[in-house]
Amino acid sequence: MEISFASKRVLVTGAAKGIGRALAKRLASYGAEVVAVSRSKEGLDSLAAEMKNIKTICVDLSDWDATRKAIKSAGAIDCLVNNAAYATPLESFLDAKPESFDMSFAVNVKAVINVSQVVVEGMIQRKKGGSVVNLSSQASQAALPQHTIYCGTKGALDMVSRVMALELGPHNIRVNCVNPTVVMTDMGRVGWADPEKANSMLAKIPLGRFAEVDEVVDAVIYLLSDKASMINGVTLPIDGGFLAT
Ligand code: NDP
Repeated sequence: MEISFASKRVLVTGAAKGIGRALAKRLASYGAEVVAVSRSKEGLDSLAAEMKNIKTICVDLSDWDATRKAIKSAGAIDCLVNNAAYATPLESFLDAKPESFDMSFAVNVKAVINVSQVVVEGMIQRKKGGSVVNLSSQASQAALPQHTIYCGTKGALDMVSRVMALELGPHNIRVNCVNPTVVMTDMGRVGWADPEKANSMLAKIPLGRFAEVDEVVDAVIYLLSDKASMINGVTLPIDGGFLAT
């Protein structure tokens, strides 16, 4: 299957590292002009130095007004990937902190709404349709110990995405989620570096392994592309069968 993003402008949040960084590079290699958004200037600078068709915007997505201004400055966008998320500290339900709740929901849910509103308004005005992919998680649909708040944000993200799909479909704007299992990025290591925890999760994944960054990137690329032109409102597990059990 040949996929091209030539002449497309794609905005990726959380592109300084992990899945977002690999995705930005893959999109650029398929001909897209990528707008990479993240908080760390150093990470963004090194990304832009690697590929010439990546522009960068440095902003803290938990700041509503600064984010709105920054995303408006990006100009016309054809495809959007809401990938950034706060690595919520591991806390049991009884220990879950209000500050963990505020930061997690600010980045994982509120910023998705904020960024999408700005980008989608432009898509609607230009009447050329568009595609949005939100990085959710298996944690949106399965209870994971010590993940009360993170699970809550991803469950909320799945439902926000479905309402977006419902309301934006008539404008030919598709909105989908991908829902990976553990990926050993910096965020993945927060929850699963401990071998005992990793092994208990691996035992519940029929394929018996975690996902690779490129396996998540492949699914996002597909959903963003015209090859997925009739797919709207789905939550696609990339979990080796974890959610099927
Ligand atoms: P990483 O922690 O590796 O990268 C997250 C990126 O988001 C970083 O570039 C980070 O910026 C950015 N970011 C975080 N907070 C903000 C903020 N306030 N403002 C701007 N940028 C911010 O995460 P992953 O690559 O692992 O995760 C990507 C997505 O995939 C997330 O939505 C995550 O929930 C989801 N996911 C991850 C899984 C995993 O096991 N890794 C499993 C399932 C889903 P900076 O570099 O500046 O900190």
